[in-house]
Amino acid sequence: MNELRARPPYGQPINWTNTIFFALTPVVGIAGIWLYARSYGIAAGDLIGFAIMMLLSSIAVIPGYHRYFAHRTYSASRALEAFYLVLAPMSFHPSALVWASEHRDHHKFVDTPKDPYNIRGGFWWAHMGWIVHGSTRATFDNVPDLLRDPLVRWQHRHWRALAFGGSFLLPMLIGLAFGRPLGGLLWGGFVRLAIFDHCTFLINSAAHIYGGQPYTSDETARDSWWLDFFTFGEGHHNFHHAFPGDYRIGHKPWHFDPAKWWIASMAFFGLASRLHRTPEERISAHAEVPARDAVRRHDELPQLHVAGAESAGALQ
Ligand SMILES: [Zn+2]
Ligand SMILES: [Zn+2]
Repeated sequence: MNELRARPPYGQPINWTNTIFFALTPVVGIAGIWLYARSYGIAAGDLIGFAIMMLLSSIAVIPGYHRYFAHRTYSASRALEAFYLVLAPMSFHPSALVWASEHRDHHKFVDTPKDPYNIRGGFWWAHMGWIVHGSTRATFDNVPDLLRDPLVRWQHRHWRALAFGGSFLLPMLIGLAFGRPLGGLLWGGFVRLAIFDHCTFLINSAAHIYGGQPYTSDETARDSWWLDFFTFGEGHHNFHHAFPGDYRIGHKPWHFDPAKWWIASMAFFGLASRLHRTPEERISAHAEVPARDAVRRHDELPQLHVAGAESAGALQ
């Protein structure tokens, strides 16, 4: 990747709101639970609140924002759409309009300067440099389907209020149920925010650097089974870039992909439908083709292999 490394656009002015927020969240969380635990210890209720908040954050962003609003890999009922829209800002991810617009640009312009989290700018740029150094460049011309939806437009106007309510008020209320509202705020609010956000950022950084490329080597996206455990099942990122319309990212039955299980459960209960699965023969056709980069590196390979790789590329 180094020879293709581009200069990240660090010249862009620093977005101080984003920077202070992402710098302070882990500090307040770690210092807060240390001070709190010295006086009140760590109770099961704190950890249960943390787990509930992690689960809600993950469901709203991964099967919600990513696989539904950005990629439309399945149809969701109005109730499920509303559930995602109300909860997703609880991790200070922006509105569905902004999120999906940036993400569709990521897929369309991947590895180029028009990719908002272009990995050619290096790990840090793709991880969070693009958030620290910028405000959104989303123009919404790639989300006409979302712009038509009044519920999506409502969420876009109110996502900050939803973010503060979901990030801080909700975990305090969960903590209150255990008699420990401050513990709930620190564990389910600040610590959860820091851990969840960095886990999702890994999809833009680590998932474009570490792992194999069984389905496409035209893009930097990679498959890492271990990333599934940090990203609610989004580790097979090479598969996702090759087949972005599939509701599964851990596409083999044994892949740890809680998001696909959530979507299938929603379908079972009648809240989701038309789950799109890439036909197996298309997936295996891709997997059998030698990587294009490998063909270029080993030019002693017979011409036949090059032709095979090129024609497989047309399937993407
Ligand atoms: Zn990607
Ligand atoms: Zn995607």
